[in-house]
Amino acid sequence: MAYDSNNVFARILRGELPCKKVHETAHSLAFHDINPLAPTHVLVIPKGAYESLADFTAKATDAELADFTRAIGEVARMVGAEPGGYRILANSGTDANQEVPHLHVHVFAGRNLGPMLKRA
Ligand code: 5GP
Repeated sequence: MAYDSNNVFARILRGELPCKKVHETAHSLAFHDINPLAPTHVLVIPKGAYESLADFTAKATDAELADFTRAIGEVARMVGAEPGGYRILANSGTDANQEVPHLHVHVFAGRNLGPMLKRA
């Protein structure tokens, strides 16, 4: 499927929509989720036009891959999530209910996050 360049994260990257920035690197941007599900809820996105993790890992350069992975760890440290623990999560596609079609990793922290998934 073609990347939708009008998705909200593409618009944030172009500066058309505001965000509460947490961290920025050469290839990645991290900002607070607009509708937080935990005391700390940060989204980390690559700056490139990638829809999903599969798309990103198939097409991104090694520099982008390294930068994005490192940015996630840096965010966990920067928001003070390391000592208490945190969860990272990336929804991809329909079954995961991905809402925004631009790769993003959620970083959740600040309370006990409960079990990984509800049993069906
Ligand atoms: P998904 O369900 O795709 O994994 O998560 C999308 C996330 O993006 C949701 O947690 C939602 O609250 C967040 N989100 C949607 N629109 C915006 C926005 O305009 N700004 C920010 N900061 N977060 C957004």
